[in-house]
Amino acid sequence: MNIHEFQAKQLLKQYGVAVPAGDPCKTVEEAKAASEKLFGAGHKLAVIKSQIHAGGRGKGTFKHGFQGGVKLAKSVAEAVTVAENMLGKTLVTKQTGPEGRLVQTILVAAAEDIQKEFYIAVLLDRANSRPLIMASTEGGVDIEEVADKTPEKIVKEWVDPAVGLQPFQTRKIASALGLKGDLFNQACKLIAGVYRTWWECDASMVEINPLCICLGPDGKQKLIAVDAKIGLDDNALYRHADIQAMRDLAEESPLEVEASKFSLNYIKLDGSIACLVNGAGLAMSTMDIIQHFGGSPANFLDVGGGASKDQVAAAFRIILSDSSVKGILVNIFGGIMDCNVIATGIVEAVRETGLKLPLVVRLEGNNVAAGKKTLAESGLTLITGDSMADAANKVVQAVGR
Ligand code: GDP
Ligand code: MG
Repeated sequence: MNIHEFQAKQLLKQYGVAVPAGDPCKTVEEAKAASEKLFGAGHKLAVIKSQIHAGGRGKGTFKHGFQGGVKLAKSVAEAVTVAENMLGKTLVTKQTGPEGRLVQTILVAAAEDIQKEFYIAVLLDRANSRPLIMASTEGGVDIEEVADKTPEKIVKEWVDPAVGLQPFQTRKIASALGLKGDLFNQACKLIAGVYRTWWECDASMVEINPLCICLGPDGKQKLIAVDAKIGLDDNALYRHADIQAMRDLAEESPLEVEASKFSLNYIKLDGSIACLVNGAGLAMSTMDIIQHFGGSPANFLDVGGGASKDQVAAAFRIILSDSSVKGILVNIFGGIMDCNVIATGIVEAVRETGLKLPLVVRLEGNNVAAGKKTLAESGLTLITGDSMADAANKVVQAVGR
């Protein structure tokens, strides 16, 4: 699960990481009140930031022509104009794809006087089975480009999960960023805070880009997380009711949200052949074999080992509501799964939806004879596959390349 920048900053703040003062706003009125509060507190500049689950907002463009998903405002009136141009509008960035994302929330925050921008992130290095902290003096801009062209400018520090992050490691990173004196001490604390956020929230990634040296009104330099992005491990969400409450369904694909209500693992893809499979491994090999025969899968769908008739019917409805689907391949290997449950679910769903598309079914395993009987007696027009290859070939033929 991903969360918004303003929510990521709320979490980081709990772990002692300094973030700019600000409020999320859903309406222009709220944005006006929030900017009045900031200017009233003596801030000279506000920053208005589109909250979408995608980066590159600063350089993004709204579909109606307004430039920039992150804008500075010198007065309440300016803040209101920016809010009007962001709320309810669609922002296109490098990461959103050409369809863009509807902005439903903006963050109105105190704009910092930025002197230097850094990059810092914590993620899981799967190859080393360890948390990895990455930091760079080249923050603010595309970190992918830095990694590509000047990889030596990114420092990496692996943490032994058994002993946790050690003080010498935070000092090593702070010194690699060229920080000295008070800023060095601030960086050590901040890095430890960012790491704790990652660890204790069961995050998959915490990224601060830019992490900034800012000049405070008191003339002192301060390290502040000006942007923040957090991704969380879905499998650990049950341990964090507060983070679960941050889920924004509007940022997720509607079909995937519907699938999650029925505990189905569904991911929409670009192709035309829908697949309904039990088991993630079988689902992946089904997608491979569709491609092998020249087709392209419209989705990944794992109905799980013990799916009920209702879940199968829901799965069918979901794959059929994708208009790019031109054919369906059901590939079930019944282990725990009873093939007859699948067959009954298919018959029910096909009757309910009045399916017109070619449907190829390959059933094997537990109670397969009863399953095949249910399908045969249903009177539905469907194509049966004797093997996985046979079924995949048949569905590709039926859809036409
Ligand atoms: P992103 O483009 O989605 O990564 O959004 P960011 O939050 O990183 O903002 C993009 C850029 O806007 C940053 O790199 C900064 O240069 C600028 N920016 C963001 N917040 C502030 C701020 O408080 N003050 C100033 N002066 N610039 C800001
Ligand atoms: Mg950024």
